[in-house]
Amino acid sequence: MPDLTDLYREIILDHHRNPRNRGSLETPPAAHAVGHNPLCGDEIEIFLQVDDGVVTDVKVGGSGCSISQSSASMMSQAVKGKQVADVKALVRRFKGMMSIPDEDGNPIEPDLTVSLGDLEALQGVVKFPVRIKCATLAWNTLLDALSRA
Ligand code: ZN
Repeated sequence: MPDLTDLYREIILDHHRNPRNRGSLETPPAAHAVGHNPLCGDEIEIFLQVDDGVVTDVKVGGSGCSISQSSASMMSQAVKGKQVADVKALVRRFKGMMSIPDEDGNPIEPDLTVSLGDLEALQGVVKFPVRIKCATLAWNTLLDALSRA
């Protein structure tokens, strides 16, 4: 039985208690996407402002379990100010950490040049397969918003 303290690391609880970049942006110009994880009842709403290939602002709405909400909060901090190409590399790196295969069903090799920072705190989630969808919801919703930006 994996240790629950791996799931609820202090930094995850901090982001759950004090979520970063909560709110909304005017659409347009911002892109907007909503994601659901029916297995857990999580909902994530992402507002994304992209200017000249750079994510200049991101806001997060929605509600759900602490894993889904803290993952969204950490994601918002990690992508703000980044080039879209670097954001996509980060999404790939994060999904690799969550043992999500790539589009062809192959394991994602970690690109160690991409830093996960605080997001590494979510690594323990991979031991709880039912919660992986909680952790990746914000990231899939981010990709959805990016495709509309
Ligand atoms: Zn959840």
